[in-house]
Amino acid sequence: MQSIIQDTKECYLCRLEAERRGYFGTLPGEGLHKHHIFFGPANRKLSEKYGLTVWLCYQHHEGNKGVHLHRPADLSLKGIAQREFEKTHSREQFREIFGKSWLN
Ligand SMILES: [Zn+2]
Ligand SMILES: [Zn+2]
Repeated sequence: MQSIIQDTKECYLCRLEAERRGYFGTLPGEGLHKHHIFFGPANRKLSEKYGLTVWLCYQHHEGNKGVHLHRPADLSLKGIAQREFEKTHSREQFREIFGKSWLN
């Protein structure tokens, strides 16, 4: 399924940082990795199924500040994804599907 988090092919976290600095122009659309926000053996497939994926640049994916090495970045993205999912589902449904809630 298409991502429910973003519709432009660009690094999602570069976009957030750029907008925080007041930049709303275009960002590179190449060299990006597709990241499954709830990863791990079972959740990866579920992330794909429910569109909980984003494009990330190498640094934000596997670099030191990237979601696979930097827990705060991972958790903040999981929170964003769960909130987006809950626009069309309940928290109970999220828990049933993904095993637990990353929001309170
Ligand atoms: Zn990036
Ligand atoms: Zn990933």
